[in-house]
Amino acid sequence: MADSNHFDYLFKIILTGDTQVGKSSKPYASDVVWYDDTKLTRTVTVLSRFIRNEFNVESRSTIGVEFATRTITIDDKRVKAQVWDTAGQARYRAITAAYYRGAVGALLLYDVTKPSTFASVKKWVEELREHASPHIVTLLVGNKTDLESLRSVTTEEAAAFAAENGMEFIETSALNTSNVESAFESVLTNIYHIQS
Ligand code: GDP
Ligand code: MG
Repeated sequence: MADSNHFDYLFKIILTGDTQVGKSSKPYASDVVWYDDTKLTRTVTVLSRFIRNEFNVESRSTIGVEFATRTITIDDKRVKAQVWDTAGQARYRAITAAYYRGAVGALLLYDVTKPSTFASVKKWVEELREHASPHIVTLLVGNKTDLESLRSVTTEEAAAFAAENGMEFIETSALNTSNVESAFESVLTNIYHIQS
């Protein structure tokens, strides 16, 4: 019988992009579980205390890092993605290093109805260059395609930007789940082919 917990590869994937673009929405960051690695738990605990003292924050979810996992099969191998989502990344700079450390993939989201979030993609690419591995596989994701009548970033301009910056590109809707699975499959398959 197949063991659903079994995996051959574990890839850390981070979600990045402006606030309100859909990073924390199902199915991007559903089934949030807290990471149980001792070292990181300690880091989070320390940060939690630090942030609580400084900002009087009560909820754990506002510490800044959450984890969701999903496992897909590639070439008969179980490839598990540990997806990191963040709240207030810019605010809690202390977690930045832990957030980017070890990440092999990034989904860089913007909102197709908000040009400012697409303009920010440049800034997020620089942030990745500064903090992440130079080999990180980045997928540019235009989210909220269900709001087609409000669209103000064209598929063509985003595809061109992605090509110029060595990223793959996809458009999704977290609301109706369109292409979200494909987004994860694309980034995990690319990483798998690089790593294996
Ligand atoms: P985050 O700040 O990037 O984590 O964004 P959230 O996941 O919190 O989403 C911000 C808002 O956008 C919420 O009200 C979501 O319900 C909404 N949202 C997220 N994805 C979509 C989408 O694909 N379509 C629509 N219409 N709304 C979305
Ligand atoms: Mg969020």
